[in-house]
Amino acid sequence: MVDRKKGIDLFRVIASVMVIGIHTFPFSSLSTQADELLTLTVFRVAVPFFFMTTGYFLIGKLSTHFCYLEITHVKAFLKKMSLVYAGVILLYLPFSILVGSISLEMSVGEFVRTLLFEGTFYHLWYFPSLIIGLILVVSLLKLVNFRTVFLISIALYLVGLGGDSWYYVIQQSEILTSFYDMIFSVMSMTRTGLFFTPLFLCLGALIHREKRKFSPSLLIGGGLFFLVALLIESRVLHEGVGVKHDSMYLFLPGVMYCLFLLLLQWQHRIEVKQASQLSLWVYVLHPLVIIVVHFFAKGVVVLANSFVYFFCVVIGSFLLGKIALKVSDYRQKRPEIKCLDKRATRELSESSLRHNVAEIKRVIPAKTQVMAVVKANAYGADMVTYAKLLQKQSVTFFAVATIDEGIALRKALISGDILVLGYTEPRRVKELQYYDLIQSIVSEEHGRLLNNQKIKIRCHIQVDTGMHRLGLVPDIADISRLYRLPYLRIEGIYSHLGSSDSLETEAAIRTEKQLQMYCHILHELKKLGIDYGITHIQSSYGILNYPECSFDYVRAGVILYGYLSHKGSVKTKLELRPVMEIKARLISKRYVQAGDYVGYGTDTKLTKRTLVGVVSIGYADGISRSLSQAGFQVSYQGNTLPLIGSICMDMILIDLGNVPTISVGEEVVVLDDFEEVALMSHTITNETLSQLGRRLVTDVVK
Ligand SMILES: *Cc1c(COP(=O)(O)O)cnc(C)c1O
Repeated sequence: MVDRKKGIDLFRVIASVMVIGIHTFPFSSLSTQADELLTLTVFRVAVPFFFMTTGYFLIGKLSTHFCYLEITHVKAFLKKMSLVYAGVILLYLPFSILVGSISLEMSVGEFVRTLLFEGTFYHLWYFPSLIIGLILVVSLLKLVNFRTVFLISIALYLVGLGGDSWYYVIQQSEILTSFYDMIFSVMSMTRTGLFFTPLFLCLGALIHREKRKFSPSLLIGGGLFFLVALLIESRVLHEGVGVKHDSMYLFLPGVMYCLFLLLLQWQHRIEVKQASQLSLWVYVLHPLVIIVVHFFAKGVVVLANSFVYFFCVVIGSFLLGKIALKVSDYRQKRPEIKCLDKRATRELSESSLRHNVAEIKRVIPAKTQVMAVVKANAYGADMVTYAKLLQKQSVTFFAVATIDEGIALRKALISGDILVLGYTEPRRVKELQYYDLIQSIVSEEHGRLLNNQKIKIRCHIQVDTGMHRLGLVPDIADISRLYRLPYLRIEGIYSHLGSSDSLETEAAIRTEKQLQMYCHILHELKKLGIDYGITHIQSSYGILNYPECSFDYVRAGVILYGYLSHKGSVKTKLELRPVMEIKARLISKRYVQAGDYVGYGTDTKLTKRTLVGVVSIGYADGISRSLSQAGFQVSYQGNTLPLIGSICMDMILIDLGNVPTISVGEEVVVLDDFEEVALMSHTITNETLSQLGRRLVTDVVK
């Protein structure tokens, strides 16, 4: 669901060509000045651009939501970059030793310095710079707000500037000279994760946060202004005192800001697949191609021309990059080994789920969205797997019963909004914040106590409109007061219907009263000028019996799984498809003589010789023991196999009379009609579903 930025993608490729340019001097056959202006100045946008993409995609959200999911993404990225860095250090080790950037005579200090600031081969400085810069920015964000981090990064950049292209200007001052001597006793350049990277990471994040739109002409104008200023700056410095290094210029951040905003708006038709991986590979591998081309250059005359040389390296690098991409794709797509001996499984049908989501959307108003209720392990359907399937159907709002269910979803890297429907201890607010969960305020007192913790959290107010379970007493003064508490960011207000599953007069009157009460509260809040946030009141039966209600969300539970709670009539017929089927294995079969007892107790005495099968599922897996004498049966290839005796904790016994040829190891369908089975055990489908045990293995079918 990542919304691809096509302009950014294409520029990743362009930027990697620029990096190759910086290392091959394409214009040197033409004029050294062209190289100085284009290659060493304009092409210098490439690396800051890559830093900005990291800032944009990785830190942008983190800087507003310093929470688990974003931190996990950063950690994963840092791990990947460290591995890549380690890998390329090894790849270039022989060359690093050959050119002397690493040697056995190096002191440990020198080696660490090379590793952290310079990189062990000339282009590898990028990786430690990125890693250190990212760690620095993220650590600062944990302590202070983004504004401060941004200001710090500007200050660091200015310091770095004095050690880079402005070095010889700064040298006029003695105090500053000794200051820079100190810096250069630790690192030989200021183009590092400390001085250079943070600003560009922050610029990327800034653009993500502000979501500002400028007109393209303004951006082009601004960009050109900064670019000309940059060229003049570079020219003056080169011609005048000279430069120590030319990565950092005063006007570079201005160019980058305009360029990046422009790229975000850039619409074009060129499809670059896996642009970020491809550009990384090209970045990593192009020196290898340079080495190879150099090796052949002696014999091939045309390679003496700098353009030809440059194009050979570009083509070679992209070919090598594509090959590397294919190899890594292949490695990732290796088929996983299927577990063959699953004892008991819940099979989830992705297509049925897709169908049910579409059916629900068909009957609710167009502006209303679906919030998926996945509490109680997604009604026994395996919460994490289920939520992932729902994400594929573009569901981005989930509801759970407890904070721990919410945390479990986050730990499985489920993004989107997660609403905790139930009560959460006020002292757990830190977790609510860290895992970016939305807490329901279930009473006036709950709201006050949550606020007293002095940690800002996202909330929805739950109002009791007549079910009298959870929710605030519908008192406008009380409710509106909650909106003013400083630590509660109230993003919505909802209620729950007590009798929407019945169309009987008494139930309908109760529901109508609740709906009226809810609308009245919204109306009053609006009159007070309160932006009350998003609204929702219907659960499954609210959708079925009151589909015309027009609120922001519906909370779909049981119908998403393809069932009604009970076999009663409903106003709107949805064509629902069961999402889940429970299967288990036949693990033993034997003939038992007439007159013998079977299983626990003496209730079941056989009247005739029977082929008894044992199936590996029991009440601990959620097959209620109350089904024991109720006519329950399983099925195999369309044949029914009746239960014999009582359901045991881990096994059931069945009569194989209808299919005596079935072999041990075959799978039988234990449960596929939850409505029927709920009826048999005198409960509602919701309970039968939610009893399904964690011992079941989940299998997803298309
Ligand atoms: C469980 C629950 C739902 C979902 O109920 P279904 O009947 O399964 O759709 C919706 N809202 C609240 C508050 C709930 O507790």
